[in-house]
Amino acid sequence: MNTETFVGALEAFQDRWVCRATLSPCTIGQCIRKQWFLAKNFPFSNRSSAQGILAFERGTNMQPIAYDILQSMGAKVSPDVRLSPELAAQIGCERGAVDGLFFIEDKEEPEDTGLWLLEVKVLGAWGYLSFIEKGLTVTDPFDVVYIDQVQSYLLALSTVFPLKGCLFLVFCADPSGTNWIATKIKKWSSPPPPLCVAKYALNPDTAGEAVARAKQVSWLRDNVDDPRDVPRDYDPMKPDKPCSYCGFLYLCKEAQ
Ligand code: SF4
Repeated sequence: MNTETFVGALEAFQDRWVCRATLSPCTIGQCIRKQWFLAKNFPFSNRSSAQGILAFERGTNMQPIAYDILQSMGAKVSPDVRLSPELAAQIGCERGAVDGLFFIEDKEEPEDTGLWLLEVKVLGAWGYLSFIEKGLTVTDPFDVVYIDQVQSYLLALSTVFPLKGCLFLVFCADPSGTNWIATKIKKWSSPPPPLCVAKYALNPDTAGEAVARAKQVSWLRDNVDDPRDVPRDYDPMKPDKPCSYCGFLYLCKEAQ
């Protein structure tokens, strides 16, 4: 056993990622062509890095801490709520699971008393500080994925629950490094908190656009077999996100 063995074992996590071929709200905001590759079950043309896998897994593993924090505040939490096939179909998807639902009686902000959808993420230093400053933005390709995810879940679940909205809870992946960037580079007067929340209400227009994207991907999956005939939302020749993190980068470039 050595570091390489462990890193290799971590990299192999991606081989057990399943259900890629079924449409889900967590992918709706991704590039249309990437979703088509996923829906067609293409093998990844380039492997995810161990760092990327760790970042992904960290989000899932922070969920229990989020539940504990909410419960300590008096909330009643239902973790890991799955959409029924009928609810998923209402938003153009075939599956879906939210990080949780919770009911809270908020004495400090009584208007927040009620039932909420919970989404938990872990962000690196720059993404985390950007979230504190601006929340989720439509100019960041990764934020767009989260926005469409939140809105499509809100649309589906609001048909069966009286939801107040979504509480988007973000943990900082590296508090000490982030503190250093915030105070030394950004010149903040004090270090940021180790977690940050934002509340999002259902926006029917954004949710409707997300559903339309899901239906577009579904149609493309069933009717198109050549990646050249599938639109893409980004330029894979630019060494920037999201293409630089896309598992189909080489395939996409090859197809033109
Ligand atoms: S490389 Fe970029 S444009 Fe191509 S499928 Fe991936 S995200 Fe889309």
